[in-house]
Amino acid sequence: MKKKVSLVGEELECSHPGCRKKAVSLGDHCWEHIPDKVKYIEVLKQHLESKKTGEGFILQKIVLRDSDLLQLNFKNVDLSQADLTNSNLSYSDLSNANLIGTCLENTDLTGATLKSSDLTRANMRSSRLWHADLSCANASEADMSGSDLWKCQMFCTRLWHTKLRNVKSLTKQNFTKIFYRILSRSKVDERGLLAAEESYLSLKQYFMENGRYREASWASFKEKTMEQLILKKGKNPAYIPMAVMGLLSGYGEKPNRVITSSVVIVAIYSLLYRLFNAAVIELPSSPRSGIWDYVYYSIVTFTTLGYGDIVPKADIASRLLAGSEAFIGAFMIGLFVFTLSRKYSAR
Ligand SMILES: [Zn+2]
Repeated sequence: MKKKVSLVGEELECSHPGCRKKAVSLGDHCWEHIPDKVKYIEVLKQHLESKKTGEGFILQKIVLRDSDLLQLNFKNVDLSQADLTNSNLSYSDLSNANLIGTCLENTDLTGATLKSSDLTRANMRSSRLWHADLSCANASEADMSGSDLWKCQMFCTRLWHTKLRNVKSLTKQNFTKIFYRILSRSKVDERGLLAAEESYLSLKQYFMENGRYREASWASFKEKTMEQLILKKGKNPAYIPMAVMGLLSGYGEKPNRVITSSVVIVAIYSLLYRLFNAAVIELPSSPRSGIWDYVYYSIVTFTTLGYGDIVPKADIASRLLAGSEAFIGAFMIGLFVFTLSRKYSAR
C-alpha cells in the first residue's frame, strides 16, 4: 500500500499511533515523529529550491537553521515554533504566515514581506529587517531586541509588550504610510485601545532614550489620545478636561494648536462684543465703532493689555464677557509658553 503523504494545502494527521498533531507538508508525520529528519529536510529544500514556493505549507516546529530560503513564496505558511536561526529569508513573501513562537534570531529578512503575519512571541533578536514589510502584523510579546529596522514598514503593526531594547533605526517613519502621494498617517495597530496606549508608551520611552524628542512628542500625543478614548469609552467624566486640552494644545505637544485656538477665541469674542454691543469707545472724536474696533478690543482684552481706549459697557454682562476673555487669554498664553518649551527643549 502506498503511504499517504501530505501535499500542499492538504492537512493530514501524523501517522504515528496516538499522535493527533498535523503532519508536515511533503511528509506523513509531525516534526517530532519524522523518522529521518535529515532526509526530510533534504527533500523539503529540494522542493523549495526547484519550485520556489512553499505557499500554505505546514512546517510546525521544524528546524531549518542556517538555511538559504530567499525569494520564496511562503504565503500563509505555518512555521509556528519553527527554528530558523541564522537563515536567509531575504525578499521572501511571508504574508499571512503563522510565525507564533518562531525563532528568527539573527535571520536576514531584508525586503521580506511579513504583512498580516502573526509574530506573537516570536524571537527576532538581532535580525535584519531592512525594507521589510511588517504592516498589520501582530508582534505582540515578540522579542525584537537588537534588530535593525531600517526603513522597515510597520504601519498598523501590533506592538503589545514587544521588546524594543537596542533596536536600530526605529523612527516615526517606520509607522508612516502615504496615501495618494500627499496624505500621510502614522500609527500602530489601534484596534485594542489599551494595547495601543501601551505600544505608544514604549515607543515614547524608546525615542526619549535615543534623544529623538520630536518623535517622542508624536508618541506622547498618540498615547494621550488613546488614554482619552479609553476614558470616553468607560464614560469617565475625566475625559472632558482631557478632550479640551487635546483640542487646545494637543495635550501640550502642539504649539500650533494653541495659536489656532487663540485666533478662534479672539474671533468668537469679537463677534460676541459686536452682537451684544458690549464695548464703548472712550475717545469722543473717534467714528462709530466697526467690526475691526471689536477685533482690536478683543485682542487687547485677550492679552490682558487693557489700554483703556475701548472699555466694556457698565452692565454686568459686558464686564463678565470681557473678564472671561482676559481669564482665558492669560491661560492660553501660559499654555503656549508651556507647549513651546516642552516641544523644543531637551527634556
Ligand atoms: Zn506525531
